[in-house]
Amino acid sequence: MIYLDNAATTAVCDEAVKAANEGFECFGNPSSLHGAGLKAENIIRNARGEIARALGVKDKEITFTSCATESSNTVIFGAAKAGGKRRKKIITTTIEHPSVAEPIKALEEHGFEVVRVSPDENGVITPEMITSQVDKNTLLVSVMHANNETGYILPVQQIFKAVKRISPETLTHCDCVQSFMKLPFKAKDIGADFISISGHKLHAPKGIGALYIKSGVHLPSFILGGGQEGGMRSGTENVALINAFAAAVGKLSPIVVQRYETVSALKSKLALALSGKEGIRIHSGEDCSPYVISIGVERIKSETMLHFLESRDIYVSSGSACSKGKKSGVLSELRIPDRYLDSTIRVSLCAENTAEDIDAFAAALLEGQANLAKMK
Ligand code: PLP
Repeated sequence: MIYLDNAATTAVCDEAVKAANEGFECFGNPSSLHGAGLKAENIIRNARGEIARALGVKDKEITFTSCATESSNTVIFGAAKAGGKRRKKIITTTIEHPSVAEPIKALEEHGFEVVRVSPDENGVITPEMITSQVDKNTLLVSVMHANNETGYILPVQQIFKAVKRISPETLTHCDCVQSFMKLPFKAKDIGADFISISGHKLHAPKGIGALYIKSGVHLPSFILGGGQEGGMRSGTENVALINAFAAAVGKLSPIVVQRYETVSALKSKLALALSGKEGIRIHSGEDCSPYVISIGVERIKSETMLHFLESRDIYVSSGSACSKGKKSGVLSELRIPDRYLDSTIRVSLCAENTAEDIDAFAAALLEGQANLAKMK
């Protein structure tokens, strides 16, 4: 099997499996006062330290959640609860993941004003396009770091810096799910009050995520109960998955740059293999994250190509896995030409992919293009 759908989810690495097993064996409740509880609590403490180091933040600024969707919902609904009486405006983009777009839409239905900034005719969002919308009434600015459908990287550092200059009280949130442990950065490089990250995109299991909350920034908790996670996220912690998340991050953290270079070389190889091929267009430019490559094949429906590739044991996705079956609005927002909107697939890499994987994919794509066009 050649797995090229790493933006949907990744294979769990051996280190994470081992750490999850250690966590399962350490079955005490981290809130219990006896030795078994303390052991579990220690696992969580060490894991929090690992994630905090990777982001370059303080341990207490990390809250474990069940996934990035929960992290982002916590921020968006929490911001509304904290400041929604005084400030009613939310600024975001038209290319956010549904885990951000949907809670914002829910707030809009409850009377919040939402400004959704659309990329320009070149598919670019400049800092000015966001910051020109910011005023004293702005509650929250939520802008993603790397887009999950094309790998497009947004100028988040400039955006969040400028937002705070204009309106220091405005809260800022960044969805870093497709960039954490892929692009080399620390939280200070992003400069947001809140950052959402997820385990299963970086070789940890599904069902574990985290939220960075900058010290001194008040955010009411979304889930109330026993007061775990410093009161931010009640519910008995998932010790095994937290340990696995930290193990995956601990493995990747020192080699983010090396992996980035490996994946960049794979992307270049693919670009070369497909360059000049009629009817094929790579939508993800050189300034996009190399981990996500959006490819249009004229006149061949995405799902048809996806299944052809599957018949060759190659796994990709059509657009984004989270927009299953739906036409991707994000691709048209990013100004991908209309003729490719129904015929784009997403190849998403990890550093374990090989040059042979890329050769096999390129050959199968060209074969699919020729065969499927004949069947029309
Ligand atoms: N944000 C982005 C950019 C994503 O790609 C995804 C998952 O595809 C999510 C958020 C949601 O992450 P999770 O599955 O951890 O809720």
